[in-house]
Amino acid sequence: MSLVLCPDCKKEVSSQAFNCPGCGRVINQMRLPKSRGLAIVLALFLGGFGAHKFYLGRVGWGFLYFLFCWTFIPAVLALIEAIRYAVMSSQDFNNKYGAA
Ligand SMILES: [Zn+2]
Repeated sequence: MSLVLCPDCKKEVSSQAFNCPGCGRVINQMRLPKSRGLAIVLALFLGGFGAHKFYLGRVGWGFLYFLFCWTFIPAVLALIEAIRYAVMSSQDFNNKYGAA
């Protein structure tokens, strides 16, 4: 379990906590951003099984990809998504997936 510092009262709070027990500030939105590099690698090598979707918190999509992996359609979609992750700005990526 990792700890983060509450930006308001500087108290150590579990990164899984919804809000700070000290001052009530919502913590969950500042959970660590996902690694874009890892998402791209997962999409390239395990994308046909939905690995990048699970990683980015899109579990429902992950299961769909996994169910249809034998059609190779998820693998094609994952390749396109890997390219999209690579070309989008870090800020866009974090906005979209950072607080998943
Ligand atoms: Zn606090």
